[in-house]
Amino acid sequence: MKTQTKKMAKNFVVANWKMQGNFKQNQVLLEAYVQSLSDLKETQVVACVPYPYLAQAQSLLQGSGIAWGAQNIGKNEDGPFTGEVSAAMLRDFGCEYVILGHSERATAYCESDENIAQKFMVAKAHGITPVLCVGETLIEREAGVMEMVVGKQLDTIIEMYGANVFVDAIVSYEPVWAIGTGLAATPDQAKAMHQFVRHKITHLDSDAGKRLKILYGGSVNPQNAVQLFAVQNIDGGLIGRCSLNAQEFEIICRAAEV
Ligand code: PEP
Repeated sequence: MKTQTKKMAKNFVVANWKMQGNFKQNQVLLEAYVQSLSDLKETQVVACVPYPYLAQAQSLLQGSGIAWGAQNIGKNEDGPFTGEVSAAMLRDFGCEYVILGHSERATAYCESDENIAQKFMVAKAHGITPVLCVGETLIEREAGVMEMVVGKQLDTIIEMYGANVFVDAIVSYEPVWAIGTGLAATPDQAKAMHQFVRHKITHLDSDAGKRLKILYGGSVNPQNAVQLFAVQNIDGGLIGRCSLNAQEFEIICRAAEV
């Protein structure tokens, strides 16, 4: 098993392109990322692109300081798993990050917490940093059980592999009701959940708690990024819609630098 040795940045801004873009548009967007974001000092920018464009991301981002990643990973090493893409294949394209457990996948493809946990470990074993999405639905928030829900999502990984696997991993708190809705969590709502995640992991493994990065995702935009990223225990963001607009994305990434 290979272990991760790369140094963690202070903050992260991860672009989630989802199933959007094409070869021509991507080229313009990635070139704009390079032009506007290569000088960041404290923030690692990561572009998580659809699988077919990993080679394009690699060729345009290599040497720029901006990393690239995928939006899913196969949980098996290799074999007859039609339609799956393995960790080793992602590594062949220089992929260093992978988004896991995004609510759009969890709902549409019925991904269980156990499945996500296995993918988390496969990624780590191949030196790919997992960006694990956790978060509650609106009904769960209204019922006041958001800590229980997020706690359970983390517990599956902890029970299967131990809290130490969160060393140098990334958790993204993404309330489902905030994703793509234009309605971001307030800084106070985010603060409480990020503190909960940090305390939960720290309580079990202080090194892992210290070295875990916790991002906020859900309708981050150029207007709310500074306020959200200023909150204690928010180490950057996972950005969907605004990552497809180079100017908006630049403002968000620069907000993470302060
Ligand atoms: C996401 O899909 O992870 C996300 C945060 O999307 P948006 O920024 O569009 O809410």
